[in-house]
Amino acid sequence: MPRAEARAPAPPLANYVIDHWSTRDGLPQNSIRDIAQTPDGRLWFATWEGLVSYDGMEFTVYDRGSRPALLDNGIGTIVADQAGTLWFSDSRGNIGRHAADGSWRLWPHPANAPSIIVQSLQIDPTGRLWLLYEGNGLGTMTADGTFHYVAPPPKSPLLNLYRRMVLDSTGTLWLGTYDGVVVQGAQGQVHTAPAAWNLPHGLAWPYRGPDGTFWIVAGSRIFRVGEAGASLQYDLHGIGRITALLQDRHGALWAGTEDHGLIRLTASGIERLPDYMAPASGRILCLREDTEGSIWIGSNGGLYRLREALFGTVSRRDGLPDDFARVVLEDRGGRLWVGTDAGLARVEPDGTVVAVPLSAEHDRQPAVLSLAEDAGGTLWVGTYSDGVYERLPDGSSRHFGTANGLPAGNVRALSVGADGQVWIGTQHGVFHVEGGLPHPLDGPDAPHGLITALAARGDDLWIGTLDGVRHVHGSHIQAIRFGGAQGAHTIFGFTTIGGDLWIASDRGVYRARDGQITQVAREQGLPVDSIFATIPDRQGHVWLTSNRGVLRLPLSELEAVANGRSPRVSVLHFDETDGLLSSQANGSASPSAIMRRDGTIWIATAIGIAHVDPAQFDAFVMRPPPPPVAISSIERDGSEVHQPLDGSALHLRAGHGLSVRYVALSYLFPDRIVYRTKLEGLSDSWSLQGNTRNIHLVGLPPGQYTLRVSAAHPGGAWSTHDMALPLVVDPLWWQRREVWVGAAAAAGLMLVAIYLGIAHYYRRQSRRLSRIIGERTRELRQTAERLQAADHEKNLLLERLRQQADVATRQAREDSLTSLLNRRAFDERLALAMDGIAAGGPGFCLALIDVDHFKSINDRHSHAAGDLVLREVGVVLRACVRASDVVARIGGEEFAILMPTTSLPEAQEACRRLRVAFHAKQDWGGALALPVTFSAGLVIPRPGETSAAVLLQRTDAALYQAKNTGRDRVCSSD
Ligand code: GH3
Ligand code: MG
Ligand code: MG
Repeated sequence: MPRAEARAPAPPLANYVIDHWSTRDGLPQNSIRDIAQTPDGRLWFATWEGLVSYDGMEFTVYDRGSRPALLDNGIGTIVADQAGTLWFSDSRGNIGRHAADGSWRLWPHPANAPSIIVQSLQIDPTGRLWLLYEGNGLGTMTADGTFHYVAPPPKSPLLNLYRRMVLDSTGTLWLGTYDGVVVQGAQGQVHTAPAAWNLPHGLAWPYRGPDGTFWIVAGSRIFRVGEAGASLQYDLHGIGRITALLQDRHGALWAGTEDHGLIRLTASGIERLPDYMAPASGRILCLREDTEGSIWIGSNGGLYRLREALFGTVSRRDGLPDDFARVVLEDRGGRLWVGTDAGLARVEPDGTVVAVPLSAEHDRQPAVLSLAEDAGGTLWVGTYSDGVYERLPDGSSRHFGTANGLPAGNVRALSVGADGQVWIGTQHGVFHVEGGLPHPLDGPDAPHGLITALAARGDDLWIGTLDGVRHVHGSHIQAIRFGGAQGAHTIFGFTTIGGDLWIASDRGVYRARDGQITQVAREQGLPVDSIFATIPDRQGHVWLTSNRGVLRLPLSELEAVANGRSPRVSVLHFDETDGLLSSQANGSASPSAIMRRDGTIWIATAIGIAHVDPAQFDAFVMRPPPPPVAISSIERDGSEVHQPLDGSALHLRAGHGLSVRYVALSYLFPDRIVYRTKLEGLSDSWSLQGNTRNIHLVGLPPGQYTLRVSAAHPGGAWSTHDMALPLVVDPLWWQRREVWVGAAAAAGLMLVAIYLGIAHYYRRQSRRLSRIIGERTRELRQTAERLQAADHEKNLLLERLRQQADVATRQAREDSLTSLLNRRAFDERLALAMDGIAAGGPGFCLALIDVDHFKSINDRHSHAAGDLVLREVGVVLRACVRASDVVARIGGEEFAILMPTTSLPEAQEACRRLRVAFHAKQDWGGALALPVTFSAGLVIPRPGETSAAVLLQRTDAALYQAKNTGRDRVCSSD
């Protein structure tokens, strides 16, 4: 695997994630005795109940009952060579091999070699296998399968062999024994380690690191072997015996122990795996680092794997008072403050966590919901039910609560303005502290309910509520509400990026720029609705937190969508597989996520404070090389077949089906790997398969094909070594070329004969036909003319009917006296306008107009004269309003005007114009000099008002008021 990078420093243990597999996951036994990885990427495990291979998705077990059947279930040791062969030994001294081409070979132990477990295998440069029989010396097996074994002479150190040996680059075998390390030179002579090395007596065994460094383990001590001999590097006094050793790609040593779990040894010291990470029980038997940099741990309690993850976490296990973290803040001194459900804590630069009591009741600390620091270094702490604490730099604190007039609970937001003004968001509106006391923010549109976010920016204060945003500028408060089902109600936070304000809400994020607000939400590609925090990093990305994981997306894409230049954002979504202990980030508290001065991002979650270093992102996420792909099974017409071992093509009959299951040999996030396939011979392009790990081929035309599959980690490169399966689809008998050539020749001759026959027949027929056609054409022309005339008549009739229908429809919606809309039509238009506002459309004004003392006009003149007056009223109304206004007669002498996109002052002005027109009019349809006046009620719908009936009632009430206060006037309400 290409791995060009210089040795990266070992990451903190908190950045590792541990995974565990046992018999419940498909292992045949929980004692993992040995681990190997073949160059194709496959992992192999030795157990007492068989040899196991693992492809990241499934364990496959080979034992005495499998195909092929092994000679014994107990596997002693396994080793992979450069050619891709896996060698294994069993507990009866037999040797087996699984070659890179998939073939198996087994060599039963001969009579002259012991029938006991081979504990260690080494392959020397000549291809000879060295076999270690614990306590019984060494044997060899050559490439042709010949065993060689000589029992050690009495007193030979080889009678004392322990289960580990190492071959160095000079061909020297280093052997562990119960009485010091012994060395076997190329000529077979055995001697103990030089006395000058000063190795201890007793059990000692060798280990060779991947860079060639030689180590010797003796009990709990680790020696490093150099030119000048062995020197003690680590003394793990008190941890019992070291049972396995691994030097990883960071150069760190990992030591497995008998009953003290796993220990890491780096330049910075000796670290024990925290308890929550430690293999649950028992002895560690073997360790191996895979090509993706994960560390596999074989224990007698199953298989474990440590993998470096993007996110680390500080939680209760590190000393936080509670796992449920709500808020996080970095103060001027670079110290990190964390508010949890059980009080406040501080994380010191060295990572230690100190609980910081707020209340004198030491065992019951308030749940912290908000934090802010003022210019003087005072920390302001808002709580769930205990008001606000002001923690001065000297450590003393003051408390604001109900006694000072501050509503007690739910202080979810705090903000300190540039002028030092402290703003407090409570469950009953916003307060600011002046003269040592809290004062409420008042005024029209000031919020009085729960405050969910606050941001003092320059002269502006932004307030988040359960019903949109309030923007305070000077003494003016503006309410910004986002209507409709897709619009936000709850606001979770404000962030400034560049000159823009970003608003996190329960419907994605909004950008406010120059008074323009644009939304980026689920419709634009965010995978969740509610976003709690928006944190830009220094790498050009934005991190969003949510109840369902953390998202990262390029700021440029977010901007492009907000600018309307791009339809969707592309998002990376992180959860527990990336190291989050809980993918539930917390919101509705502030700040719920921050970027620290070192560029790292810290997020309050349901289990601790998660942190990620965006600068390390590529190293963690893009690090794994594209995974190789292997075939897991092939089915031809429903029965399993194998890929030919010699690389030749798999044959398939035309019309028959083939199913191929494949898998990428990667172990980091096997579920996230994406695949693509290409069937060469049919298509030159790849088709993306997503996470699908199988392909079905049916109905392929005869020919030669190659099925290729490659894989990638999400966002990573595609593997360059594709899996290739050559295929030949054999034609059926009638699809063969010879058959086709013969058939085509016969068919050709027949066609010529048929043609000659037909030509003769047609010549005879054509003369008769031309006569008949002449007669028929004449008849047809006459018929066509008759039909045309009838068609014209029918069209005239239809047109008349259509006109009548139009008139009828219009009449159904029109008032016959004034030709204005009638009540029914008006009700429809009003309902439409109400729906319009519910969907976030523009508002409107509604006026109800009633002619004053109309009865007396009827009485004094006549009903007919009254009718003429009503018609004139209609004319005046229509003439005085805009074309877009809807005018209707909704009752006897009652009229209504619906004025779209009109504010109340504009509508009042329109009504004033109407009154002037009524007063000025002399001729009311012949009845001269008649004073005709009207009273009117005027309303605009209230926010959230959805019922037209309620709106009409309110208008009626306003009209009633106009009548009651003397008529000839307009009363309005909002
Ligand atoms: P005000 O509204 O100022 O209280 O007095 P008003 O006299 O207008 O009151 P009211 O609503 O009680 O009377 C309305 C009258 O309008 C009663 C009815 O005879 C008359 N009217 C209703 N429809 C028509 C119609 O189509 N033509 C005529 N000529 N009169 C009508
Ligand atoms: Mg009336
Ligand atoms: Mg009236």
